[in-house]
Amino acid sequence: MPKVKTEKKSRVHNEVQKQGIVFNKDFGQHILKNPLVITTMLEKAALRPTDVVLEIGPGTGNMTVRMLEKAKKVIACEIDTRLAAELQKRVQATPMQPKLQILIGDFLKAEMPFFDLCIANVPYQISSPLIFKLLLHRPIFRCAVLMFQREFAQRLVAKPGDKLYCRLSINTQLLARVDMLMKVGKNNFRPPPKVESSVVRLEPKNPPPPVNFTEWDGLTRIAFLRKNKTLAATFKVSSVIEMLEKNYKVFRSLRNEPLEEGFNMQEKVIGILEELEMATLRARSMDIDDFMRLLRAFNSKGIHFN
Ligand code: SAH
Repeated sequence: MPKVKTEKKSRVHNEVQKQGIVFNKDFGQHILKNPLVITTMLEKAALRPTDVVLEIGPGTGNMTVRMLEKAKKVIACEIDTRLAAELQKRVQATPMQPKLQILIGDFLKAEMPFFDLCIANVPYQISSPLIFKLLLHRPIFRCAVLMFQREFAQRLVAKPGDKLYCRLSINTQLLARVDMLMKVGKNNFRPPPKVESSVVRLEPKNPPPPVNFTEWDGLTRIAFLRKNKTLAATFKVSSVIEMLEKNYKVFRSLRNEPLEEGFNMQEKVIGILEELEMATLRARSMDIDDFMRLLRAFNSKGIHFN
């Protein structure tokens, strides 16, 4: 009897302590409080008992403990030492403890071990670099189910011609299949954030596409700087031409090849665009195949984007 009492007391004590945590806005701390949202995210990830799950920003561990019930192991990366300690306390002396590995630090700087799935309500302020760190991680994981700010999620799934179609859309879709799963309103979080949220699923393409991602990113960065302009107009911008010219000169000199007679970078680039009949295309309506074709043509003529 006394034992039950103590347990009850300590649970209440924990709860009070949790209420007492002052959430840090700089770290985007908004704790998911609706268990149904967590249940749905776990279902959509099709979590198996043999899976190693990566969670980015576990906070006080509302999602973590649910995953620990189902997974072989959870690796949780948390930047805030207070919350990491809170989470450690929450699993202490329970059967979950040996299955949890907490990495304290910035996810963007951390070296990631192997994982099968990534399930997380992530810190929104690092959404973009977080996605590419995940998608460029090797070996390739099976799937990620992630909560993002709604507009960010909409950008991830946007298709050519959509208003929100941008470099983030095409770069993500190059590397993964992306599906919008559900909308999650502000009131499912404590404290409620200013923005609405949505959950998406990312399934990395395996094998990955046969492109050098740095080159690809360099090309889409230029093309989407002015996504409503024609490629011909974009590639006439002097800073763009200067950058490509510099790279080209390095490329030629590394191969001990002199520049061609009457070399003119702009003419060379526009010539390639015209040959491909792409000079009048605009990034806003170009798809992955268009950019693949363009990158291949540029690279085959020694034009590089990194
Ligand atoms: N997943 C928890 C908390 C989400 S809030 C839940 O749903 O209840 C976002 C969490 O990410 C916070 O715990 C915050 O401290 C953490 N965080 C913020 N920036 C981070 C970073 N760069 N690396 C790892 N964790 C980070």
